[in-house]
Amino acid sequence: MRYQLTLQFQTPFSVGVGNEALFHTTTQRVIPGATLRGALAALWWRSFDSADDFAALFDDDLLVTQAVPDGARLRTTSTVACKYGAEPRCGEAVYDRALFVASGEAWNTGECPRCGGPLTAKPGWSDLPDPVRRGRVQLEANETAEDGRLYSRDYVAKGMCYIAEIETSADLSWLDDATVRIGQGRSQDRGRAIATVTQLEEKPPTWRDEPVAIHLTSPAIITDKWGAPSLDLDDVERELKRISGDDLTLRHHPEWVRSELVTGWHGRSNLPKVPDWAFASGVSFVVDGLTADGWRRLRRGIGWRRIDGYGQLAITGWEVTNRPPFDVTAEWWEKEGAELRKHKSWGEYKSLLRMACINLSDTSEVSEEKTQRNLKQVLDKAPPQFHDKLREILALEPRQLEQLAGLLRSNKNKRRK
Ligand SMILES: [Zn+2]
Repeated sequence: MRYQLTLQFQTPFSVGVGNEALFHTTTQRVIPGATLRGALAALWWRSFDSADDFAALFDDDLLVTQAVPDGARLRTTSTVACKYGAEPRCGEAVYDRALFVASGEAWNTGECPRCGGPLTAKPGWSDLPDPVRRGRVQLEANETAEDGRLYSRDYVAKGMCYIAEIETSADLSWLDDATVRIGQGRSQDRGRAIATVTQLEEKPPTWRDEPVAIHLTSPAIITDKWGAPSLDLDDVERELKRISGDDLTLRHHPEWVRSELVTGWHGRSNLPKVPDWAFASGVSFVVDGLTADGWRRLRRGIGWRRIDGYGQLAITGWEVTNRPPFDVTAEWWEKEGAELRKHKSWGEYKSLLRMACINLSDTSEVSEEKTQRNLKQVLDKAPPQFHDKLREILALEPRQLEQLAGLLRSNKNKRRK
């Protein structure tokens, strides 16, 4: 069974990232599955006392994913977006190239269709909470402050809601409405959260036996055939085959690979684990030959430490969901403008249409009034049977109108020669 675990933080929390020896300690803003699992284990011991039951549940059954702030968004490594966001609508220029690869649709844009600026990848989580820094003075054994030693630590403010997923065959009633303690500073009542558990409906996606884009929602520690952590896509393919049981192939897109170092602590010995190189959250894969059954088996993740929530995958999709507007080419205008050009009225409003295209492609001033004014100037001179077509043309994107303005000018030059 798969469950959603919601954590409502009553006090600020701080989850160290392995740099506790420094004067300033930062905090993770996505809570690792291992940290969360440790917190749940501590809670479990407060209600039960059987070492056998504990081992049965925690050693190989209870899978706990990382906890992510409600509302945070993960951008895949194959997604490109407008680098500068110069225009208000630049935010719409977000395209996942993995969907183009999966669907076989051509990808040929390097520019933001709104502002003409470059498109770049900005993978990873966004909309994470900003941490708050709190200082404290290091106390000596006699409880007096050590000279000049001010320590500080980052906290995520109270009131945050975090969401994780749990997969287990066991009953979870001990966890519902329980108080969980997460991260450092428990003696100061830091990291106190109320847990709620709801069963997730495992509705399988409407499956299509076609190339599919998937992505990691948590880091994946993949190993080579000798068992060492690997960032090789051949090793990812072998792991996807092994877990899914499908005879699949992975399209090789090394440009989508991002790595991160995964650290952690051995809960019982309180010693740091050897850091492992992992594929980062958001890394995209396009896979041929994955079946619905294979996908169900992949839901428990890939690679090492899956029980700590590493290697979790999600489906990006099969089809392109957002594509840049098409280029207005001479061929396009040849076909789309044929009726207009054939009619004797064309000469009456052609230059007005070109002016409207130029005016509306200038995005330094955008208003409904400006759009209507430019449209009216053209429609006043054009026969009514062409009004719908002209409305459609002038509703094109600014970049397309600029391209059309260029075509209208060059046509004129051609005729003069
Ligand atoms: Zn832009």
